[in-house]
Amino acid sequence: MNHQSITDHCPYCNTALNTVTSIGKTNIKPKNGDSSLCHHCASILKFDHNLKLIAMTTKEIANLEPDHLAFLNRGRALILKRVINISSNFE
Ligand SMILES: [Zn+2]
Repeated sequence: MNHQSITDHCPYCNTALNTVTSIGKTNIKPKNGDSSLCHHCASILKFDHNLKLIAMTTKEIANLEPDHLAFLNRGRALILKRVINISSNFE
C-alpha cells in the first residue's frame, strides 16, 4: 500500500480527507477519474481533473468494471462494519 497526502472533504458528509491509499500498488498517485471511498460514510467518490474528490454518479458506478465495483463494495462493507462497531460502543 502507498499513502499520498491530499487536502479535501467528502462531498457527502464533509469529513476531511487527508490521505489516499493505493491498494496493491506502490508509488501510484491518484489521477483524473480514479475512484476512492470516504473512510467515514463509505460513499464512492472519484478524482476530477483538478484531483479534487467529487461524487461518482449512479450511472458512473453502474458502468464500473464488475471486479472493480466488487472491490469497492468490499471496502465499503469494511468501513460500514467499523462504523456500526463504533456506534454499538455508545449504546
Ligand atoms: Zn463521506
